[in-house]
Amino acid sequence: MALTLGIVGGGQLARMMIAPAVELGVDVRVLAEEPGMAAALAATATGDYRDLETVRAFARGVDVLTFDHEHVPQEVLRALVADGVRVHPGPDALQFAQDKLLMRARLAGLGMPQPEWARVTDAAGLQSFLDEHGGRAVVKTPRGGYDGKGVRVVADPEEVADWFDGGELLAEELVDFTRELAQQVARRPSGQLVAYPVVETVQRDGVCAEVIAPAPHGSTRLTEVAASIGTAIAEGLGVTGMLAVELFQTTDDRLLVNELAMRPHNSGHWGQDGAVTGQFEQHVRAVLDLPLGDPAPRQPWSVMVNILGGPADGTLESRFPAVLEAHPAVKVHTYGKAPRPGRKVGHVNAVGDDLDAVVYEARAAAAFFAD
Ligand code: ADP
Repeated sequence: MALTLGIVGGGQLARMMIAPAVELGVDVRVLAEEPGMAAALAATATGDYRDLETVRAFARGVDVLTFDHEHVPQEVLRALVADGVRVHPGPDALQFAQDKLLMRARLAGLGMPQPEWARVTDAAGLQSFLDEHGGRAVVKTPRGGYDGKGVRVVADPEEVADWFDGGELLAEELVDFTRELAQQVARRPSGQLVAYPVVETVQRDGVCAEVIAPAPHGSTRLTEVAASIGTAIAEGLGVTGMLAVELFQTTDDRLLVNELAMRPHNSGHWGQDGAVTGQFEQHVRAVLDLPLGDPAPRQPWSVMVNILGGPADGTLESRFPAVLEAHPAVKVHTYGKAPRPGRKVGHVNAVGDDLDAVVYEARAAAAFFAD
């Protein structure tokens, strides 16, 4: 009988797991937050992922439960595990992707390289961190941040006065980085692990704009160090499924861990068209404890460009004839979401052996969807 995978969350990451799951003969069910979401292509229930009974009812019909996001509360996850549901990644791992303070403390315990950091609970605590770090710091809310929300660069505790009500904050040194990288690994519950090549991610206004795979100018050593960091974290934290480790490459060539995502991640979209096994198929295989696929690139270079916002005058599909005709070698992936300024509504992937040409193709194709 076919295996059934339940995905909590109806966004584009769930949506993009559906096609590879179908190819593997896996039935997919989605618990979406509301009707009409990106993943409403599969059998979809609608309900609140914070409500135990809702998630419990959804989990009843599935073999394995996984996620499109990291926001399902620990109490819900732990109750499901106690019910005997196979939850991947499990709560013990997922807590470190849910709370940046927990993550920093755990990574310190594993000896992972990371920015200097401190837990601060009031203005005086933040002021002393600022005094010790050249008068500037990055302050983050430990929970619930995404796409740069919940992250502020400050020189004065007053700039986060509105956040102290919520309790503890994470203060980090302002890292002088030359670029941002991401390392993905996939790990099965039974332990098999594969590492993808480290990639360069380009962020604009706190949002991922482009990804180049593998990271250009990546020495063998850089690739090995990044893979060893990803491997150590996946094994140390017991991650199952896809793990993305966001990294800073510093001016003095160190790699520092920024944050973790335990699910498919924007930095891995290139692999849908550029890797032997893309991250969405890999996540499905990993959480079902099936043998993992080869993560190797099919082509020397892959470039992913996000479609942010989309055309104000209509749907993405209205631009298809023009873009598909002009760029027949590019792959367009859309999320079924209404265009809105800054919103991630799709991406394009281009692959090839000449990096400049691949970057040009991907950017030019994505530009068709701009306003
Ligand atoms: P989010 O959870 O919103 O993705 P991140 O912790 O990844 O937040 O931070 C968003 C962006 O802010 C990063 O991609 C990076 O560009 C910048 N940033 C975060 N932490 C630091 C830091 N310690 N030093 C310098 N820049 C940082």
